[in-house]
Parts: sequence; C-alpha cells; structure tokens
Amino acid sequence: MGPGPSDVSPRVLAAMARPTIGHLDPEFIRMMDEVKGMLKKLFKTENELTLPVSAPGSAGMEACFVNLVEPGDKVIVCQNGVFGGRMKENVERFGGECILIQDEWGTPVDVEKVKAAFAENDNVKALAFVHAETSTGVRSDAKSLCQIAHDNGALAIVDAVTSLGGIDVDVDGWGIDAIYSGTQKCLSCPPGISPVSFSDKAVEAVKNRKTAVPSWFLDKNLVMGYWGGSGKRAYHHTAPVNSLYALHEALVMMEEEGLENAWARHQKLHNALRAGLEAMGIGFLVNEESRLPQLNSVLIPEGVDDAAVRTALLQNYNLEIGAGLGNLAGKVWRIGLMGTACTQRNVMLCLDALENTLAAMNAPIKTGVAAQAAAAVLAE
Ligand SMILES: *Cc1c(COP(=O)(O)O)cnc(C)c1O
Repeated sequence: MGPGPSDVSPRVLAAMARPTIGHLDPEFIRMMDEVKGMLKKLFKTENELTLPVSAPGSAGMEACFVNLVEPGDKVIVCQNGVFGGRMKENVERFGGECILIQDEWGTPVDVEKVKAAFAENDNVKALAFVHAETSTGVRSDAKSLCQIAHDNGALAIVDAVTSLGGIDVDVDGWGIDAIYSGTQKCLSCPPGISPVSFSDKAVEAVKNRKTAVPSWFLDKNLVMGYWGGSGKRAYHHTAPVNSLYALHEALVMMEEEGLENAWARHQKLHNALRAGLEAMGIGFLVNEESRLPQLNSVLIPEGVDDAAVRTALLQNYNLEIGAGLGNLAGKVWRIGLMGTACTQRNVMLCLDALENTLAAMNAPIKTGVAAQAAAAVLAE
C-alpha cells in the first residue's frame, strides 16, 4: 500500500511467464494491435499515436518533452510536488524556456495563476502539469487546465502516471495533446512500460519541427515504424516481449472489470479507509475536493516516530506504506490504494495494523472504532 509499484495480480505474473516469441512474430504483432486498441479505450481517445513506450514512466515523460520541445520554445510548467519539477528539467534540457508556476505541496495547480501566466507571456507552445501528484496525493483540474491551454493556442502535456485506471482520464474529452502514464500504479502491472498518446495536433507539431528530435530511441517518427499502422512493421528496438504480455493481461482485466467500475472501487475503498482513519483521529493533508482516492496523504499523529511505525508495519504485518517527500518528510504517510491492491481486505488490514502499532507506541489515537467506521462505509 505504498505509492507504487502496486501489487501485481497472479494472472498478470502468469502471463509474463509465457514463452518469449519474436518481437516481429505475427502473433506478437496481433497482440501489439490489441494492446494499442485497449490503451486507446483506457485513455478514452481515438489518437492513432497511442502506444506503450518500452521503459518506465519517466521515459514516457521524456518521450513527450523531447518530441514536442525545441530550443527556444516557451513552456508553462506547473509544479505542486516532486513530479512537476521533473517536467521543468525536461523542458530546460531540451533547450526550451520554462515558465514555472509553483503551488504549495498538498494543493492543486491554481487555475488562475495559469491564466495569468498565459496573459503575461505570448507564443507559449505548451502547458505541462501533473494530473495526479503521487508525492502529495493531489488531483488537479485537468479539464480546466487543458481548456486554458487551448484558449491560448498551446498544447497540453499531462502526467497521468498515477491517475490512469484510478480516476477519470479523458484524453479526447479534455483535449489532452500529449500524455504519459506508467504500468506500476493503478494498472497493477510490473514497472517498466509507459503508455503514451499524442493528439493529431501534437503529431503535427512533431512533424513541423525545425530540428531533429535529439533522442533516437524516443523519436516518435522512428518508433511508429514499429508500432504504427496495421501493415508492415519494421524493427526499431527489441520490444520487452514478456512485459507486454503482462500489460496485455492487465488491460484485459481492466476491460473485464470496466473502467468506471474500477474508478468506483477506488473511490469506495478510499471512503472506507478515510472513515477508519478519521475515527482514529488521523487527518488528511489534502482538501476533500482535491484528494486522490488511490494515494492518501495522512498526517502523522503528534510525537510519533515516522520511520519506526513504517518499519513495524513492514516487519509485523508485511505492509508497506509510503513516507512523505521533501517538506512533507516526517509529516505525512502516503497510503496507496492502487489497482489490484485496492481491496476491502487491504483497507481493513491497514487500519488494524496502524491502530495496533500506534497504540503500542502510546500515540494519541482513538482505539476500537476504526474498523467499525470503515465497515459502515463498505456496507453502504
Ligand atoms: C511514479 C511516477 C512517475 C515516474 O514513473 P517511473 O515509472 O518511476 O519512471 C512520474 N510521475 C508520477 C506522477 C508518478 O507517480
């Protein structure tokens, strides 16, 4: 129950153990087409350029920035946690000019500040922001932010590593131009693959570049020789065959459950966890309207030794929860409810383990009430 990688279903692990076939084998190519089709549904897009990058979420991020940012391009980057900072790094490394908007960690991206930044700067090529900040547990208003980008003729680049599969991500509905995710958060797949999607407008921007894409491996023009169309496929790199079996199986499982049912499961179990924690007297870092169900940042009770509690949970209950990052280190725990790990059993285990551990340390919490509070929500 940390911030990822989340638990992987035995079905997905079993898929990974199947025999490795060639990355140009007709059967493999048929599976690639299925993966692309299922990713389109997951992203809610018709974008032709939708594919899994053969590397972790960070590579999906680089794929977006290295293809879309050219020297001198202005990009507004919103930072309200760890991952926005990496977007700034990307823009600058590819020669772009970063206009950084900062919001306090634990709060969403301020839509008004973004509007003001567009008013103060012309010829902005793109707006980049993190939909679900895993470092703080905050959801930003992706729909409104994309709208502002479009009103100003800019592309919208979105980090959906933690959001995809846990909450609504509507690429075509919101007009997202470039999006990247990861397999190890709410998709419950092993880490190492990054689903991405580019809108036609973004593809056009890549085609109209004045300079070559500075990365050979992530150059979308080249990658599409292998992943694009439905006709002949050319060797680009050796795809991580077994990891793609895993992704395929995870996507099949997502279709079996239904995307909306998966979001509802995350929300309901978050509500149950929250009821239990609050009954115990443990509060949340993030305001209710911006809370992510899949990543719960909770305030560590007064006088409690952060590391001692996490170590006890791991040793005594085999339960991992995440530490706070940056300024939030020692102040919050990050409890993940992601994908396959988002279950009633885990919620009840977490509440019980936390209660017993904190009570043994004489922490100021209320005992004997959490399980009942959570159960009441689950019975709704
Ligand atoms: C985990 C995460 C990443 C990085 O993904 P990796 O697979 O670790 O490279 C990027 N952005 C967010 C919001 C994340 O949670």
